[in-house]
Amino acid sequence: MSNPAPPPTAETSLREYPYVVIRFRCTVCERAADVRLAVLAARFGPNATLGRLVSMFVGGCWWSPHNPARKPQKYGMKCGGHCPDLFRPGPPDLPPSMTGLTLIEGGKGDMLPAEPKPVERRRRVGDADV
Ligand SMILES: [Zn+2]
Repeated sequence: MSNPAPPPTAETSLREYPYVVIRFRCTVCERAADVRLAVLAARFGPNATLGRLVSMFVGGCWWSPHNPARKPQKYGMKCGGHCPDLFRPGPPDLPPSMTGLTLIEGGKGDMLPAEPKPVERRRRVGDADV
């Protein structure tokens, strides 16, 4: 399956974000969150951009440049909060129905053409639904 959409950027809104899960990572404080797109859209609205969400993620970090408890340091450590899926052409984790065609047992007669494949629900250990 081809992916003609351009990779998401900081300007991409939740409405346009092509994947199910948005991942947030910090290289400094090692905070991490995998949040479902639907959860973020319900909370912040479909027009919230990835850049805004990343800056909110950074805002929760001790190393955030906006943390009032820290004195601003021009060359000090800064939060490395980011979204690893921005500017990447490929999806972070394809759902099973999108991984392309695979050979399966049985024939066409066994298939129900109007029925979508059952979605396999997977949860990671420590997965936080914010
Ligand atoms: Zn951080």
